[in-house]
Order: sequence, then structure tokens, then C-alpha cells
Amino acid sequence: MRYSRQELFTPIGKEGQKKIRDKHVLVVGAGALGSANAEMLVRAGIGKLTMVDRDYVDWTNLQRQQLYNEENVVEQLPKAIAAERRLREINSEVEIISRVMDADRVTLEPLLDNVSVIVDATDNFDIRFIVNDLAQKHNIPWVFGSCVGSYGMNFTFMPGKTPCLQCLLKTIPMSGMTCDTVGILSPVVQIVSSYQVAETLKILTENAEAVRDTLLTFDVWKNDFFTMKVQNAKSNDCHSCGEVRTYPYLRYENATKAEVLCGRNTVQIRPKTIGKINLDELYYKLTKLGKCERNPYLVSIMDGDLKVVFFYDGRAFIHGTNDMTKAKSVYYKYIG
Ligand SMILES: [Zn+2]
Repeated sequence: MRYSRQELFTPIGKEGQKKIRDKHVLVVGAGALGSANAEMLVRAGIGKLTMVDRDYVDWTNLQRQQLYNEENVVEQLPKAIAAERRLREINSEVEIISRVMDADRVTLEPLLDNVSVIVDATDNFDIRFIVNDLAQKHNIPWVFGSCVGSYGMNFTFMPGKTPCLQCLLKTIPMSGMTCDTVGILSPVVQIVSSYQVAETLKILTENAEAVRDTLLTFDVWKNDFFTMKVQNAKSNDCHSCGEVRTYPYLRYENATKAEVLCGRNTVQIRPKTIGKINLDELYYKLTKLGKCERNPYLVSIMDGDLKVVFFYDGRAFIHGTNDMTKAKSVYYKYIG
């Protein structure tokens, strides 16, 4: 009953619905694209959804990140946790796994077990190149989506068939624009995510021949809509998908310890090794040093103009600065 409208759609049917039910999708990022993708996939009745995100909900998210509400902002709930709660309300039949973590080559790979599709809902190309190499290495299709301002893009990378992201390096604009610097219109999110879910459903129901093999770009403000043939970009020399593969983005130790979150006036600090910290102890220690807040997932303290937020995996956001040295020294003031 629940999925009757989807089953009436001939290319899916009852058989296709069973296939959807058996499948596991990994959504990387629980922002605007992640919210929209996850909600549609969960409503469609996928078997299992894994979501990862490193951030928590704030007021600027509510304009377009459909899984979140004002209460989540007040609670400073991590997006992965808030998303899981909301998704369980929407469809209790779906197994939902959420992880509050920084997506990188080390943390993502263990999550790929039985994953049929990886949905890209990140906002940066560093992670996309890691996803690209992981997808090639494990032979998993991944569905790229990007939104900036009034402009959106979508492409489905099918290992062994289409070019990979590395092959498309010169084709896809990868300028430093993010929604934090030029803004974003929510309809763009809805359009990109709708295409992502449509392509994902084709793969889940084993209708791969229906997957669009062109790069789609559009601008809802300038009224542009283009599809571009990219098959010729596939390169045999590509280190990610060619004959000799080194998976360059999986090779290097991710040594980033301090990272400026573009346009957010925030620095993220990562400890050398990610591991759980005792938030109760930290909170107790910090309450003696300043004004603190906490929930089960994070502890924050005001430090002059800065707000420092510690996550239970040992990461911290230093809000109010783009200065990595300053942020590190603030971090070590409280941890270490
Ligand atoms: Zn390639």
C-alpha cells in the first residue's frame, strides 16, 4: 500500500520496489542536498540509509535544509542526529545509520559495506575526489550534485562506463564558490536533489540503461538548462579510473589538522587521531573557565569573541576567526 504509487510506475513495479527495499545508500553530507536526498530515498522505501555529517544545525540552515527545525537549532543538534530523528518519523521501516564525523578516506571506507549508490551531498571538492576514488576502487556508482547561488549541476559516475571526476577535471567548474560566500536559492537544491534521487532510483531498480550519461547544468535565475556529452573525457591514463590506478586521493595521510571552513569565519581543528573524548569531563572542566553549553554530542564555550565547539570525536569548530594559528592555540588551551 505504502509504495503503491511508485509500484504503479511501470519501470519500477513491484519487482523494482523489492530491489529498492534490499538496497543500502550512503549519503555524504546532511546539509541541504543531504536532507532532500535522504527524505526522498526514505519515503521511497530504501532498505538502509547511512548519513554522515560533521556540522550541527544553525539558523542559516533552516531556509533550505528541510529535515531541520527551530528546536534543532536551539539544541545545537548535530545534523546527522537531527536528520536521523526526522527520517525515523517519516519512515520507521528504513534502517537509518547516522555518523557525526568528518568525511575523509579513512572514515568513509568502512561505511561502504553493501552500499549500492553513494550520493554526494557535500559542498567541497576535496571530499568529492575522495568519494570518486572510493567509488572506483569499490565499483560503486556515485551521484554528484552541486548548487551555488541559482546554479546547479548533476552527473552520475558509473565506474567502468562513464568518465570519473578526475577525468572531468577540466569540464566541471570547481571554483572556490560555495553557498557560504555567494548564497543559495532553495529551489536549486530541490532540483539538483530530485535529479540525484531519480538517477539513484534507476540504479537501485537495476535500470542502469536509463541513467543519464550527460552532465546537466542549469540556472534558475538566468533560465539556462544545458546537458553536455562528456563520454569522450574518459581517459585510459586516469589514475582513478584508467588502466593503471593509484587512487591518488586515497594514498596520502589526511594530515589536515586545521582547516578554514570557507565563508563561515570558522576554523575546524582535527586531532591527529580521531577518537572519542569524554564530554562530561570536558564540560566540567570548561564550566570553570567560561560560559558553556552542552548536549549529548557537543560542548561549547565562549572565549571572548570566539565560540569554541567540541564534538565527541575530538574535533572542534572555532567560530569567529579564519586564523588557523589562533584557532589552534585556542584549541590547545582547552584540550591537551
Ligand atoms: Zn577517470
